[in-house]
Amino acid sequence: MSTEKDKGGEKDRSMAQQKEMIAGHFRALSTAKEDGKKVVYTFVPGNLTELMHAFDVLPVYPEINALQSGMRKRSGGYITEAEKLGHSEDVCAYVKSDIGMLRAGNIGPTGEKLPEPDLLLLSYTGCFTFLKWFELLKREYSCPIAMLHVPYQGDGAFTPAMRDYVVQQLKTEIIPKFEQVTGKKYDEDKLREHLKLSARAEDDLVEVLASGKNRPSPIDAYFGGVYYIGPMFTAFRGTESAIDYYRMLKEEIAERVALKLGPITPEGPMGKEKYRLVVEGPPNWTHFQEFWKMFYDEGAVVVASSYTKVGGLYDQGFRHDPNRPLETLADYCAGCYTNLNLPQRIDLLEKYVREYEADGILVNSVKSCNSFSSGQLLIMREIEKRTGVPGGFVETDLVDPRYFSAANVKNRIESYLQMIEQRRQGAYVSPPAQKHLPVVSAGNAQ
Ligand code: SF4
Repeated sequence: MSTEKDKGGEKDRSMAQQKEMIAGHFRALSTAKEDGKKVVYTFVPGNLTELMHAFDVLPVYPEINALQSGMRKRSGGYITEAEKLGHSEDVCAYVKSDIGMLRAGNIGPTGEKLPEPDLLLLSYTGCFTFLKWFELLKREYSCPIAMLHVPYQGDGAFTPAMRDYVVQQLKTEIIPKFEQVTGKKYDEDKLREHLKLSARAEDDLVEVLASGKNRPSPIDAYFGGVYYIGPMFTAFRGTESAIDYYRMLKEEIAERVALKLGPITPEGPMGKEKYRLVVEGPPNWTHFQEFWKMFYDEGAVVVASSYTKVGGLYDQGFRHDPNRPLETLADYCAGCYTNLNLPQRIDLLEKYVREYEADGILVNSVKSCNSFSSGQLLIMREIEKRTGVPGGFVETDLVDPRYFSAANVKNRIESYLQMIEQRRQGAYVSPPAQKHLPVVSAGNAQ
């Protein structure tokens, strides 16, 4: 979190570097047309960043723009504009924020104008909204669309036939579209080089995330975690700058572990670690700091989260593999968290609760996102049953400020932490016997 308070000299060099990397990327986007660079709009889960680097194009991620608009308190206005245009209240708020931003001049988070796309690259990984979103953008821009259909892991596996199906599309649909738009020939050796760089940075990210197993955890793997995954899940994977960033971050975290320090929060170092949580679901962006404060004020740290896996499950062993360039892209796309079925998600979260020695599992169910929200109550109940830790359930949204009721959410989080406390003192009724107890849930402001 890049606030003045938490800039503690050497320890936050990675933060300053990330800021510079992002600013540089948006600068490059703002001059892309004069510089003769091609621009590709694409999505975060299942992104083909290494392939984009191989063709020397610049990516724009509409979800990132939406979440940045949320953090900058602009998404509410953008959403209203989109609703005036006829987009229903039920539509994912990311889409409406993006459409509203577009209508307001398409000014990106750094205040610079975003260039129009030369290609809309739709990698479909489990979210039907992606299709509709790019249908809308297609009406706005006269550029080609390339679609990569990645099969959902409905049976809990990505089979060789599914992999071949994706690879075939890369060969016959995606790469030819890149060649057409850029006028360049596909260079597999170049792709391999970027994949090699990706794997090195991925190793370091895994170490950073695994540091949550320490007591105290030196990181917050949800609120802090969204910063750690930023470069990896977006334009920087497969570059030297990502390698530098993750090396630096890993060193900073190692230092914190050695000194037995907890995470840095927007208000400085966190106090004593009292509760260790696993969190399922994306964060709320419009009240991000307020939401985080509700946790660290109570001594609650998130030691592992599913949201930091939307752009890949590196901690479960996946690495981009330069020896299988197209196959590895297929595996990557298929393995993103929202492309996993519910039993796979449950197994993963159970593993986190055990390996990170969590005191509880908290679900943040966002109104916008069915890819995440479907089945979350079942996930929570199943993990309670398997591990014995209590579950908590709060409801917010991604970037629609109308769905964040601060008092309500705070109240529920406090009640949930009290429940954990009672469990410690032996007053907690174990989940199988507590069927009659209500879920600790926070409704929205509606
Ligand atoms: S529904 Fe969820 S996964 Fe789909 S675009 Fe919206 S936030 Fe992303």
